[in-house]
Amino acid sequence: MKQYLDVKKKHKDEILLFRLGDFYEMFFDDAVTASKELHLTLTKRASTGNNVPMCGFPHHVSNSYISKLIDKGYKVAICDQVEDPKLAKTIVKREVTKVITPGTFTDSEYLDSSNNNYLMSVYVKNLSIFISYLDYSTGEIYITEKTFLNRKELNIFFVDECYRINPSEILINKQKDVNFNKILKNIPSYINFVEDLNLNVNDFDEYIDDTNIYSELINLKNNRNINDLISIKILFSYVIKTQKDGFKHLNFVIYYNSDDNLLIDENSKINLELVKGLNTNSKKDSLLGVLDNCKTSMGSRTLKKWIEKPLKYRDEIEYRLNIVEKLNEDFILLDNIIKELNEIYDIERLSVKISNSTITPKDLIALLNSLKSIKNIKFILKLSNSEILSKLSDQINPLEKLKSTIENTIIDDPPANFEEKQFIKKGFSKELDDLFDMSTKAKKWILEFENEQREKTGIKNLRVKYNKILGYFIEITKSFVDKVPSTYIRKQTLVGSERYFSLELKEMEAKLLSSRDDALALQLSLFDELKKYLSDNIKNIQELSKVVSLIDVLTNFSDVSIKNNYTKPEFNQDEVIEIKDGRHPIIEFNFTDELFVPNDTVLDNKENLIHIITGPNMAGKSTYMRQVALIVIMAQMGCYVPASKANLSIVDKIFTRIGASDNLSKGESTFMVEMKEVANILNNATSSSLIILDEVGRGTSTYDGISLAWAIVEFIVENIKAKTLFATHYHELVDLAKKYDCISNLTIQVQEQEDTIIFLRKIIDGYTNNSYGIEVAKLAGINEVVLNRSREILDNISEEKSVLINKPKQTDIKSRNKYSASEKILKDISNININNLSPLEAINILNTVIERIRNTNEY
Ligand code: ADP
Ligand code: MG
Repeated sequence: MKQYLDVKKKHKDEILLFRLGDFYEMFFDDAVTASKELHLTLTKRASTGNNVPMCGFPHHVSNSYISKLIDKGYKVAICDQVEDPKLAKTIVKREVTKVITPGTFTDSEYLDSSNNNYLMSVYVKNLSIFISYLDYSTGEIYITEKTFLNRKELNIFFVDECYRINPSEILINKQKDVNFNKILKNIPSYINFVEDLNLNVNDFDEYIDDTNIYSELINLKNNRNINDLISIKILFSYVIKTQKDGFKHLNFVIYYNSDDNLLIDENSKINLELVKGLNTNSKKDSLLGVLDNCKTSMGSRTLKKWIEKPLKYRDEIEYRLNIVEKLNEDFILLDNIIKELNEIYDIERLSVKISNSTITPKDLIALLNSLKSIKNIKFILKLSNSEILSKLSDQINPLEKLKSTIENTIIDDPPANFEEKQFIKKGFSKELDDLFDMSTKAKKWILEFENEQREKTGIKNLRVKYNKILGYFIEITKSFVDKVPSTYIRKQTLVGSERYFSLELKEMEAKLLSSRDDALALQLSLFDELKKYLSDNIKNIQELSKVVSLIDVLTNFSDVSIKNNYTKPEFNQDEVIEIKDGRHPIIEFNFTDELFVPNDTVLDNKENLIHIITGPNMAGKSTYMRQVALIVIMAQMGCYVPASKANLSIVDKIFTRIGASDNLSKGESTFMVEMKEVANILNNATSSSLIILDEVGRGTSTYDGISLAWAIVEFIVENIKAKTLFATHYHELVDLAKKYDCISNLTIQVQEQEDTIIFLRKIIDGYTNNSYGIEVAKLAGINEVVLNRSREILDNISEEKSVLINKPKQTDIKSRNKYSASEKILKDISNININNLSPLEAINILNTVIERIRNTNEY
């Protein structure tokens, strides 16, 4: 108990699993908590007069219990026996060998294979944020930094990154001026405050020799101008503190600049249903669900990253598209690659097992089989008649030497309990073969000994048996005891029988056991050598897994685009987005009997900058706008798109404000949420962005709403010049098209039939001044009394109605907008505390100011 309490003192935050013999036991509050969460029986242990609550489970089933605790948001410290109990003179020495936390959990049996498991570290200093995150189970590390003009923008960036990365666990510095509490409430990750963790960021320096990333970091620091390594040091100190060893697989640090990718803010990601359905929360109803037919888990994880972070540079996009095109041209080639991909195991997640030495012979056979298929893929790609595929083939290093080493060492079907069975191939080591031979021979001898003794003694039911306590013994039933020879030594009496030893038997047993022990020990030491060799190859395996993931996703794109009838998008530099027969990938996918009606889109920076879309409820306005955004995203991922033709200009950011989603759990009204989102759009969109506004302004009174909607569109035209689709029931807005050449009106065709309507789902030029609300209400089953009365009221109101929007003069608007923009910049500058800035931060801020001024045009 004293030993336990000493250990527990250092692990107050975690549930402590204390190894006692074959069990992990928990005591005190840990026991009470765990017994509830894991449905274990709570017992008491009488110790020093107190009744200490206690519960536990056998060590060989610990993984499933630990994964349950992690799943429920606990951290677990594992305290093992670190010396052989047989050799211990007093109490067995115990130490915490590992702390398992949500962000460092690596058990591939319990981790979701199609998702990464990220641990993220955030360090904020003044107006700069440094984020780094790592998937310990695969070894990927990402790092970024950004400087802002004010805390609000920094916070928005932080929240967007949190949702995009979706870490299981976050490490965050707590400082007086850094108060994330309000934001963090809405983030579902496990949050650690670094101050409470007592991390010493210099601990990391001790491990420099163990980690390959240090040199990478130094490179980054020199080349990328990262002025602070603290965030990544926090990350590493935490990993070192919890994992104790196994850092060899942390090889790559990927520095990313959030401006290098198509930026999709959190709302758009949700509204466009990129990775899960809006109402169902399930992957099946999302773009990811439609697109993910990857054959390996590495591929699925990569695809998810691509969806959340599409590309922005044309050559990168076209590289992917061109590979998909070549794959599409050759069905047989495609089919052959898919067949091979099906045989490939999650070799990316093997790297951590190699690194912390938990890899098993079975894993190695999985790796071997994967390497065989990978080699086949290399061949298939090389033999294609395409230069780009042949170059891709050259990127595959099939690790021949590693492959043949495993092939020559491990048997084809190694046992799970490899510590007690033979798994190294015959012929690999003569010494090992001899030892195993000896134990086989001894076993055979024992079998023969039984027959021999039966004949000698005439006891026909004499049996040689084995158990853990006695070892080998001879068992004879009571009725034959008078025939037992005097050389037998009686060892145990049972109800119906007696058990004996014999000298010869015991001698042979000793031989058998010692040769078996020696064989197993030698086998493990040979395996250790192999593991060492593997560990020198981790980086190669990781590089290989990256290429395989890429091939998997692109093959998948090809496969999906053929099945779903997608086409290759083209790109232009003329600021035109032109889509012919575009379809909504998710809705079309879930349609079975009904046919999805395709629609065209033209957006440019001239007459088609902004479309105001009017039309009845349920006509398909929202669907149409989302489909444009989804097609742009798919194209910039390097995927084919649901259209007969798509000629696109590259978009830097996508913003969507769709529907009236209430955010009551955050304590905000719908309208407040709506306006916050619009504010974010107006502050961050550029002329290369795509904005989708769906019924903005509906959360307040009609006149408020119309006025806001009108002014928002004007601001976009005057200041942002971003391509915009705006669906609205405020028919007054169609007048904007008269005022601005760059605004045009679209509507969705319906056919009126008596007092009902038929949806034709076709987008056409023009507008409607009828929302057909009453007709839709009729379709929905509202009764005739209400319908008739509402028709009456509508007629009355329409007669009286004369809403005139008082249109401001063009010049007024311009100067007003310009004024407010410059005023805002001045205000932000005056809020800067110059004493807190490093020279580099000052330069960054200056740069941002200049850019903002340029963006407010004509300065
Ligand atoms: P609105 O925004 O105009 O109220 P939605 O876009 O929400 O309408 O569309 C309502 C429903 O109509 C969709 O859920 C879908 O089932 C169907 N729909 C929309 N567009 C199409 C289309 N182009 N072809 C077939 N069905 C469509
Ligand atoms: Mg709608």
